[in-house]
Amino acid sequence: MSLIKEIIKEAQKGKYAFGTFDTSNLEVAQGIARAAEAKNMPAMIGVTETAAEYAGFLPLMNLVKGIIAESKADLVLHLDHGKDPKFIKKCVDEGFKSIMIDASMYELEKNIEITKNIVDYAHKKGVIVQAELGKIPRMKNSTEIGTTLKQMEKTDPDELEEFIKKTKVDTVAVIAGNIHGMYKPEGNPNLDLDLFKKLREKVSTPFILHGGSGTPSEDIKKAISNYGIVNVNIDTEIRVAFMSAISDFCVSGQMVTDPRKVLSIARDSVQKKVEEKIELFRCGK
Ligand SMILES: [Zn+2]
Repeated sequence: MSLIKEIIKEAQKGKYAFGTFDTSNLEVAQGIARAAEAKNMPAMIGVTETAAEYAGFLPLMNLVKGIIAESKADLVLHLDHGKDPKFIKKCVDEGFKSIMIDASMYELEKNIEITKNIVDYAHKKGVIVQAELGKIPRMKNSTEIGTTLKQMEKTDPDELEEFIKKTKVDTVAVIAGNIHGMYKPEGNPNLDLDLFKKLREKVSTPFILHGGSGTPSEDIKKAISNYGIVNVNIDTEIRVAFMSAISDFCVSGQMVTDPRKVLSIARDSVQKKVEEKIELFRCGK
């Protein structure tokens, strides 16, 4: 059995979750790996299409693969929010162990068709597939939480059952109050735990929680231990940890000429944030 399948199975059995943390550079990837090692927990290191555009596909993939190879922790290279089937298949061919196909912007039938096509391709090569059902909005302006919530389409339990049956996807990101990004000053909304319960009654497929940044911690813990969420995706909070360390340094007025002096502080800040998240997701395990 592949490592990631084993990791998911263990999490399901133990009623805890591990994290997926996104990166687009060296220091964030190192911070994630160091946190997983320090906490002795598995994690997925996620890259997105835009991260690969920024860093270059081969440089970013090989960077993460190198960090994984040198780490003592169980780490998995994951494609987060894959939208272009050609790009996703390239990731499968190049040795990603887990990929996400996000066709959630389409209606059910088309989402099923696109997802199934990717599942068929990936499974032949032993790569696991995560899909998304429901619409999770992402707003650029953090004051627009009202608009964001209006645009949310929560996962429908009957649709979920049909989706899983027809696509044979390994894990599914469901939408039940979770939103991408962090919202201030209101804070992110609570999770719809009643809906999680209904979704869980329909299928046994492990759930993934996206939009984990900013969601109330108590809700996350309840959803993990009661409704089979095995993985939580964190992106925004890592970016914030990285950038706030850098801006604090700049504000302090110190002059350095070696970028490593600043970037290593940002790396430590990412590690601290990831360790915090790992602790939260493991639910006392
Ligand atoms: Zn997401």
